Amino acid sequence: MTTTGPTPSTDFIRAIILDDLKTNKYGGRVHTRFPPEPNGYLHIGHAKSICLNFGIARDFKGLCNLRFDDTNPSKEEVEYVDSIMEDVRWLGFDWADRLYYASDYFEQIYQWAVQMISAGKAYVCDLTADEVREYRGTLTEPGRNSPYRDRSISENRDLFERMRAGEFPDGSRTLRAKIDMASPNLNLRDPVMYRILHASHHRTGDQWCIYPTYDFTHGQSDSIERITHSICTLEFENHRPLYDWYLRELGIYAPQQIEFARLNLTYTVMSKRRLLELVKEGFVNGWDDPRMPTICGLRRRGYTPEAIRNFCARIGVAKMDSVVDIGLLEHCLREDLNKRAQRVMGVLRPLRLVVDNYPEGQVEQMEAVNNPEDAGMGTRKVPFARTLYIEQDDFREIPPKKYHRLTPGQEVRLRYAYLVRCTSVVKDSNSGEVAEVHCTYDPATRGGNTPDGRKVKGTIHWVSADHAAAAEVRLYDHLFTKPDPDEVAPGQDYKANLNPSSLERLSRCWLEPSLKDAAPGSRYQLERLGYFCVDPDSKPGSPVLNRTVSLVDTWAKIEKKGAGGGGRGARG
Ligand code: ATP
Ligand code: MG
Repeated sequence: MTTTGPTPSTDFIRAIILDDLKTNKYGGRVHTRFPPEPNGYLHIGHAKSICLNFGIARDFKGLCNLRFDDTNPSKEEVEYVDSIMEDVRWLGFDWADRLYYASDYFEQIYQWAVQMISAGKAYVCDLTADEVREYRGTLTEPGRNSPYRDRSISENRDLFERMRAGEFPDGSRTLRAKIDMASPNLNLRDPVMYRILHASHHRTGDQWCIYPTYDFTHGQSDSIERITHSICTLEFENHRPLYDWYLRELGIYAPQQIEFARLNLTYTVMSKRRLLELVKEGFVNGWDDPRMPTICGLRRRGYTPEAIRNFCARIGVAKMDSVVDIGLLEHCLREDLNKRAQRVMGVLRPLRLVVDNYPEGQVEQMEAVNNPEDAGMGTRKVPFARTLYIEQDDFREIPPKKYHRLTPGQEVRLRYAYLVRCTSVVKDSNSGEVAEVHCTYDPATRGGNTPDGRKVKGTIHWVSADHAAAAEVRLYDHLFTKPDPDEVAPGQDYKANLNPSSLERLSRCWLEPSLKDAAPGSRYQLERLGYFCVDPDSKPGSPVLNRTVSLVDTWAKIEKKGAGGGGRGARG
């Protein structure tokens, strides 16, 4: 075990790298990259890739670059570039001075395209996009050669230059690699290398009106940066022969592409196209809506980088597609918050409780433990007075069986304060609902102790009505009602499974006074209610809290039973 992290051979990719180090394949170097396309915000799936690429660099004392794969000007924006850098940093990773853009290589990539033309390995094709598709054939039928395939090298050079010069409209021509229209791998059937696109690029402006495809950019960028292991998701497995072909034909340094299974999560959609749709069509309140699986959404929800990194370590990497139970992600979050979150009291659905025999105007400062998991976090004072708020759920006039909370005649412990016994209720004359509960306290039970040893089963939380801070609290449920959002009736799409009650806003909550000016981003456990994070919508004196996660850990139960989730992410 090294001191820098997990042992470097815990997954098949690290095993490959270990082997390459033994055979000195890259002169002992390990150099990875994380290559996002700046066309959306990063999500938890990207976090898996980030942890993998940067984690490998860390474990093998190598390097990891951040490279924007910005070859598609029509969908890319600076806003996304900035957010991606912020999110990678927040996750705890550092690319030092190795920030790159594929667009910085456009001139070199163009020169390589010319080299391919000169070698008779590329040609300008005048088929339309639809015709290219039609000529490509299918998995069972070979494709047909383009009628433009045998253009002379000089004509190809001339046309390609004029494509660059802007002489032709969008879509009228492409540059294609001359490989094999009968290849069983469709990616090798004369793939497009360049397309005409008169669009402004977020970095190169109007300098270019032809743009290289992902396939003709990615390997070359890896080569320029002297990446050793180019790690990507499984859908690129069929592109690897093309990746290798371009680098071989160009005769330039070739990294090794290795594919792994992308992360899928239950109750979650992960593609950027869908996340963009949810944002654009107003199903959520922006990319950082706390219900989104984006890094910024998780951050606003109250996730810690440590919890996300730990989750990524636990799911491991494999070559088999699978769906991870979102319960595991939440479990990792609870584990982390349990250690770090200060405990406080707050009431979400308030019910007035009046302690009739407690002197009017008297206030006592009760000592409360900040974190039972960490004595070093100390204690704080919470004011106790005659009129309190308790949770509506903590009182029942007619209690169900085994109800240990407050009910007429029954004694209950007010956390850190006193034992109280319910004496009467006041009802709303219109609705008939309980509006206020009255009780008496036993002064001999200060701090919640029972000097006579009597047993009291229930302990409930409370706040002092005169001292509490008014707050809004937002409760969240999964964004989708089904574990697989794609499980829909014919004619519907995943949006049919959006959960109409994924957000519940409670606008009349009360928090203990220490939270009055809590800083956005700070995290707490509200005793018995869950973990919460202060939202940036908060104003001084009126906090807004997001419930990060409840306290009920279904995953821990599964794990205890030894079921381990049945292949749903319990590896590693
Ligand atoms: P999406 O499918 O969400 O649109 P993408 O693959 O188009 O994602 P990129 O910006 O190209 O997004 O991704 C950057 C890197 O993150 C790539 O190496 C990609 O393979 C990886 N990645 C994307 N989604 C996942 C995922 N769900 N799990 C693991 N890695 C992912
Ligand atoms: Mg992509």
